[in-house]
Amino acid sequence: MRANCWMNMKTVQVQDVPDPKILNQRDAIVRITSTAICGSDLHLYNGFIPAMEPGDVLGHEFMGEVVEVGRGVSNLRVGDRVVVPFPIACGNCWACRHELYSACENSNPNAGLAEKMFGHPTAGIFGYSHLTGGYAGGQAEYARVPFADVGPLKIENGFTDEQVLFLSDIYPTGYMGAEMCDIKRGDVIAVWGCGPVGQFAIKSAYMLGAERVIAIDRFPYRLRMASEKAGAETINYEETSVLEALKEMTGGRGPDACIDAVGMEAHKPGLLGAYDRTKQAMMLETDRPHALREAILACANGGTVSIIGVYGGFIDKFPIGSIMNRSITIKSGQCHVQRYMKPLLERIKNGEIDPSFVITHRRRLDDAPEMYETFVNKEDECVKVVLKP
Ligand code: NAD
Ligand code: ZN
Ligand code: ZN
Repeated sequence: MRANCWMNMKTVQVQDVPDPKILNQRDAIVRITSTAICGSDLHLYNGFIPAMEPGDVLGHEFMGEVVEVGRGVSNLRVGDRVVVPFPIACGNCWACRHELYSACENSNPNAGLAEKMFGHPTAGIFGYSHLTGGYAGGQAEYARVPFADVGPLKIENGFTDEQVLFLSDIYPTGYMGAEMCDIKRGDVIAVWGCGPVGQFAIKSAYMLGAERVIAIDRFPYRLRMASEKAGAETINYEETSVLEALKEMTGGRGPDACIDAVGMEAHKPGLLGAYDRTKQAMMLETDRPHALREAILACANGGTVSIIGVYGGFIDKFPIGSIMNRSITIKSGQCHVQRYMKPLLERIKNGEIDPSFVITHRRRLDDAPEMYETFVNKEDECVKVVLKP
């Protein structure tokens, strides 16, 4: 089959790889009909997530048709249409029983590696380095889906791929980001990053009762989408001081909760930006936490900072004093997608949201290398790329 493979830093290549096979009774093989490129893939592309090997098949946002099931999968049949969640989860362990699917204790064969890095192991993830199991991903014609009796969501209502594909990741991720803010009527929520994840965080904050959502980025076309499609007020951080603007917009108090939808590769002009770039390049810190620092400092006393942008390791100049002295709560996580798929499908059915609004580019799988470049450089007003194998 054809698959988009990580070859080296800033190099991906669509090539022929062996077809996936059923390896365990609870596996299914899915013929992929739509797949997408995620901001998380860019961290792999740019070489900031360790334990990638040349030839690794990328991609963790995909859906398609079941073409084969193992004997242990009784709820799926050949021909079923499914969306596949990005964390791989067994459904039976302590974490899964507590709906902490991205921390599943049984799905990461390289748990030891993750344990060294994070103190405790994390779940397997499709196409996301050997730290999360080295599973082949979904930017391909076919994928092997482990624990297929637990993860995949059957789509039975004639929705198009584009309407439901993002249940695999970014819609639940944005939603979880907003849910972690514990929003009460009248709350003001600020969202750093107007990528696809930020857009869903904004929409979800409104769904959960926020009165105002303020979105922060520097790309005018992304800020425009946040305002026109998701209904946010916007701040361009290249033109305005974010901390001052947020104070002014909230009667001096700051937002009730702040969502970091940027993660480890945040951009920052000026001296502090250069400082973190240098430290990251010299491997003295793994992540550039500009958005996170700002989110913490901006947040109202007693508020919550919800981190859904991905971080990989260690950061510097972390404002712990601000967190501690001002009673800030930090919440975070790789999304527990399995927890949200059904309720969020309901919101699509009700017409509350059509997740396809973020799509700007529709291409063939063979165009993946060009589309990684376009997306990483935010060229051609790119927000979200969908690829058809
Ligand atoms: P993206 O690259 O399209 O968007 C990131 C946005 O952040 C860009 O628009 C960029 O201009 C903006 N940005 C950069 N520096 C900023 C700053 N200092 N202040 C404000 N905005 C800034 O990526 P995406 O697909 O939207 O993903 C966003 C993050 O979410 C990534 O880190 C990704 O890995 C992560 N993610 C996490 C999960 C999860 O389960 N927690 C799931 C999916 C994605
Ligand atoms: Zn993703
Ligand atoms: Zn589990």
